Amino acid sequence: MSLVKNPLLSILLLIAASSTAMAEPHFPRDYAISESCRLVEEQRYSDSVLMAERLRISESSDLGSQITAGAVALEIGATSVASAEFSSALRTKPLDPLALYGTALIELEKGQPRTALAMLISIDPTNIPPSADLDILVAKAICLAEIGDADGALGDLQATNDPAGAELIALINSRKTNSDTTPLTALLNEAMVNGIPQVIEPVGIRLLLPKAGIGPAVEPSITEREVSDDLANRFDSSYIASSLPDSAPITDSRGPLSPEQSDRIWKLLRIRPDYKVAEYELALALLAQRDRAGYETHILRAAALDPDYLDVRARIRPLFLGQVPDKFPVPDGTSLPSSLGLSAGRASAAGFWAGSPHSREIALTFDDGPIPIPTQQLLNALRQASAHGTFFVVGMRAVQSPDSLRQMAADGQAVEDHSYTHPNLAQILPQHVLPEILRTAVVIEATTGIWPHFIRPPGGNTNSLVLATAKACGMSGAFWTIDALPAEETGSPDAVAQWVIRRARPGAIVLMHNGMQATIGAIPKLVQGLRERGYKLVTITQLAADALADRHAKT
Ligand SMILES: [Zn+2]
Repeated sequence: MSLVKNPLLSILLLIAASSTAMAEPHFPRDYAISESCRLVEEQRYSDSVLMAERLRISESSDLGSQITAGAVALEIGATSVASAEFSSALRTKPLDPLALYGTALIELEKGQPRTALAMLISIDPTNIPPSADLDILVAKAICLAEIGDADGALGDLQATNDPAGAELIALINSRKTNSDTTPLTALLNEAMVNGIPQVIEPVGIRLLLPKAGIGPAVEPSITEREVSDDLANRFDSSYIASSLPDSAPITDSRGPLSPEQSDRIWKLLRIRPDYKVAEYELALALLAQRDRAGYETHILRAAALDPDYLDVRARIRPLFLGQVPDKFPVPDGTSLPSSLGLSAGRASAAGFWAGSPHSREIALTFDDGPIPIPTQQLLNALRQASAHGTFFVVGMRAVQSPDSLRQMAADGQAVEDHSYTHPNLAQILPQHVLPEILRTAVVIEATTGIWPHFIRPPGGNTNSLVLATAKACGMSGAFWTIDALPAEETGSPDAVAQWVIRRARPGAIVLMHNGMQATIGAIPKLVQGLRERGYKLVTITQLAADALADRHAKT
């Protein structure tokens, strides 16, 4: 007989469990260190500050706690707290490598490259994780370049094969007078990881790099600065005292960080590449060579990384005014026969709504991927059915699974833009619309070699700014005539196939989702059913091209 079948005993066990949870007998140091790191890694800076502050208050003389709190403080730009914590760590353990490295970064930011260099040189190389070699090398090179020894800086960096190193080389080179632009191009290519520009730029220590005087001065955006100041204020003891009344003592372990913890902190303090600078510099270099197309490509990439960088916004504005020919003309604002089942209001919005009602073509479209396993299954199903469709991908997912995008392109599937973070584009801040659309386009082009033709705004939510921005980026808005979601949500492949087949009309665009098992399962029946009714399955680009040809044939 199981113990918990005794009702009285289970009540007692419940009481015991809840009182244990409520008492919170101690606050584990190692847990707090791991949590501080994890929260920064997930860019949950304010939660991370609270966690690091518990370490700082509860165990002010513990080396691991000092270093963790210092790293978190540095990450959010609270340099005076960071400086105090690393100094404490150096008193606890003179020559601790992470404390020296952290202090050197702060000295660099303060414009003291010689002091920083001295600290970096004093780090014992046998006492650090292997990956930290490069971190120290990059930091040393910045110091050298800042002191004026560009050749010394380049010398050590040339041997590395790392994006941060490559970008730094590009920047140093671009700062040397009479610089040739050829190496800059080559180095920029090196600065890609697997051919993808690293478009994710977390707020944080990367701000140190330009401040060190290598690149053009980069001011954090107002939002970044506000967030950073707000977080720095949270390290203020009065704030902490009021928000953490029950700060329990840390009891389980003390001393240096474990190798795993130390690895994480090194990673946290890594000087991250800041590709927008390299893209911007390259664009200007190409412009000087009268390579207009090259200039436009790279200034657009810089804009995708950060439209507020220097004069990037002003530079891309002319590209918005129609001076760049449409990469692919599509029939905007197609007026649709009511038989397609669209409400009149939606059909009047600019964008591509449906193909020609005179040709038996249908575009299957799959939103929200890539998600590695379901995307692979969907691609397999489409390949077995010899069917072509269109994937509207979410940029932030695409950078995580570039191979999925390459596979789509290799299979002849179209890859189009579905925004970077999948927000309601009609409700976000106006300045976020461009990066949402453009970043994803950059990722698609970098992985598939093809600039997208269409953006499908998440949920179909759009406004004139979204559509104008899409147009400026060489894209049109793409919508649908058949929404299969209600059928997809039943979980039944048959329901999905029947739902779409019953609603199929010439020129239809079918909205489905990448990740739904019912959809993957429906592919064989759906493709067969549509073909039996005389439909040809095409990509949305083909549907648009044929609709355009149809319209021209009539006029
Ligand atoms: Zn979506």
